[in-house]
Amino acid sequence: MTEKKTLICYQCKVELEMAKTCFEYLGLSFHTNVLKCPKCGLVFIPEDLAKGRMAEVEKQLEDK
Ligand SMILES: [Zn+2]
Repeated sequence: MTEKKTLICYQCKVELEMAKTCFEYLGLSFHTNVLKCPKCGLVFIPEDLAKGRMAEVEKQLEDK
């Protein structure tokens, strides 16, 4: 059994692929690898990224 998670774009019915994507959040931008639909560009943001990375950014802002 492999642990490889495969996600399918609900619109295009194709597998999401890992892609380096630029995000903007609270006026800051950063690059990270996320699963993205190669057809329509839909990006899947895992919960841990949303919680971890976004919290990091928020912390940086608070420190200023
Ligand atoms: Zn798609």
